[in-house]
Amino acid sequence: MPKEIVKLGPALSGEHADASTIVALRRQAEGCERCDLYKNATQLVFGEGPTDARVVLVGEQPGDREDLAGHPFVGPAGRVLDECLHEAGVDRSDCYVTNAVKHFKFEQRGKRRLHSRPNAGEIQRCAWWLGAELDRIHPEIVVALGATALFSLLGRSVGVTRNRGEVIGTPDGYPVLVTIHPSYLLRIRDGSDAAAERARFVKDLAKVAARIG
Ligand code: SF4
Repeated sequence: MPKEIVKLGPALSGEHADASTIVALRRQAEGCERCDLYKNATQLVFGEGPTDARVVLVGEQPGDREDLAGHPFVGPAGRVLDECLHEAGVDRSDCYVTNAVKHFKFEQRGKRRLHSRPNAGEIQRCAWWLGAELDRIHPEIVVALGATALFSLLGRSVGVTRNRGEVIGTPDGYPVLVTIHPSYLLRIRDGSDAAAERARFVKDLAKVAARIG
């Protein structure tokens, strides 16, 4: 039996946006000023995929490429995610892919925009949208890709290192698979470490395939 937690994160507790469809939600989110991140980002990057998806993948926030393109997981981390999903036997086109935070947070260094991690307040504010996406889709499983997604879904009682690979039941929500963000794999310098971590990520994702059959 999966472990169950008592206290959920902001995306699975409290109030969320309300709209009858994902398209309507997205339209609402385009005018969002719930935190300051909309001010410097190019555009909102909302979730994408089938609205009856059995799997929802949740990342951290859009990166530089995603911010410019307006779509989630289209940069290098998205490519790794696609490959690993494929190896795990999960078709990405069957998944709804989104982020815990919908606007790109960055520090400007000359011409470069360096990724900056969203803080707890920003994650909580943006859970208004992630929770609403989950309410509309009702997936069979949610994959928390990294610490930001995990905090939004399950709060502070669960950690990526501590609970990696576990599928955690949520009494009023959805089972959540705990794993890393694929961008982590891109930062590992040592070739054999990178290969081992990638294999571990594929093994985590295989739990999704096992669950949805
Ligand atoms: S990051 Fe989220 S909460 Fe903040 S402005 Fe964008 S959509 Fe709204």
